[in-house]
Amino acid sequence: MTALSFVPVSSGGPWNTYLTQVERVLPYLGPLSRWAETLRRPKRALVVDVPIEMDDGSIRHFEGFRVQHNLSRGPGKGGVRFHPAVTLEEVMALAAWMTVKNAAVNLPYGGAKGGVRVDPRELSRRELEKVTRRYTSEIGLIIGPDKDIPAPDVNTNGQIMAWMMDTYSMNVGAASTGVVTGKPIALGGSLGRVKATGRGVFVIGREIARRLQMQIAGSRVAIQGFGNVGSAAAELFAGNGAKIVAVQDHTGSIANPAGIDIATLVATAQRDGGVAGCPGAERIDDEAFWDAPCEFLVPAALEGQLTAERARRVQTRVVLEGANGPTPPDADDVLAERGITVVPDVICNAGGVTVSYFEWVQDLQSFFWSEDEINVRLERILADAFRRIWETAQEHHIPLRTAAFVVACTRILAAREERGLYP
Ligand code: GLU
Repeated sequence: MTALSFVPVSSGGPWNTYLTQVERVLPYLGPLSRWAETLRRPKRALVVDVPIEMDDGSIRHFEGFRVQHNLSRGPGKGGVRFHPAVTLEEVMALAAWMTVKNAAVNLPYGGAKGGVRVDPRELSRRELEKVTRRYTSEIGLIIGPDKDIPAPDVNTNGQIMAWMMDTYSMNVGAASTGVVTGKPIALGGSLGRVKATGRGVFVIGREIARRLQMQIAGSRVAIQGFGNVGSAAAELFAGNGAKIVAVQDHTGSIANPAGIDIATLVATAQRDGGVAGCPGAERIDDEAFWDAPCEFLVPAALEGQLTAERARRVQTRVVLEGANGPTPPDADDVLAERGITVVPDVICNAGGVTVSYFEWVQDLQSFFWSEDEINVRLERILADAFRRIWETAQEHHIPLRTAAFVVACTRILAAREERGLYP
């Protein structure tokens, strides 16, 4: 293995987390492991300057990134995040996890990810639009409906996808609906996309519950992050009789062992932009969130949150990774020793990109499906993918994360081998 010279990588950071996950899959890849270095290097990384004129007349520059980690199985696919902590290293890891995720679910895509290092909460709507449009124009060199298809991620949404679609379309001189997914319905968006990631977390939760002889009804759920993923998952768990006992977001942490009323929680988050002031729940210390007794713990915020130290304290049976990369390898080991099942991000949060795939297919055909069709197909794809990963884990006596990597990396490297090296 050769270290990459072009990017500074932090020792406990997301890229090293990903590399360790790759090391753990190698013994199960047989002759395909000859191609392993493919997994350790992003195919292409673009760094762009995003200058905009602010409302007060000053000029500010933001750093933007688009990384295409692997394109062996199809065009790049993966979201764009707007966050002040975005770095090239982080985007590389997120792109790599998209490669694995898309292959784990068998979507005909490679993996990519993008981001802008910006706090969108500090921008006016006009400034946000300018950042989005300039960033899209700059990465326009490498994206496109048959090249690389962005989508929402942390702090990006349907409006931002609409601006991206419009900017790209203006630049190529034709309405290009298939260039991004997660768009508003009127612009070729798909029914069911907004809640798809949260729905996927719930569907996978139901699949694992069945295999571990657990019940969703009456179970206790703790959720970190109440954005698009956490809130949609919470609604489905609560709607199926589970109790939401603890929630944490950027505004603070709350708990109620008897269950927090889901309608009040969602209304509070909408009204205040966060959960901290939710009536009917007690404010708790942020660190105490990790001690909440529950059956399902759902980290649905950022990478690296479930540290080894927290992994020693959590009182859960199952971790459902709604976020990408929330559990570093040392924490994975602690959880495994404690008999806590971790359902990894690359299957657990794959519902979003699966409905993104449906959106892209609908756009390419200009033929749209009903919400029922979408949800039925989503559940079938996720349940089938999960079954394969579960069986692989049983067969080799390995954790679900390594099993998901076995299934995915076998597909990625088999495609790599069949295509052969050019020239
Ligand atoms: N950002 C989401 C993820 O991490 C969705 C990506 C997509 O729809 O392309 O899976």
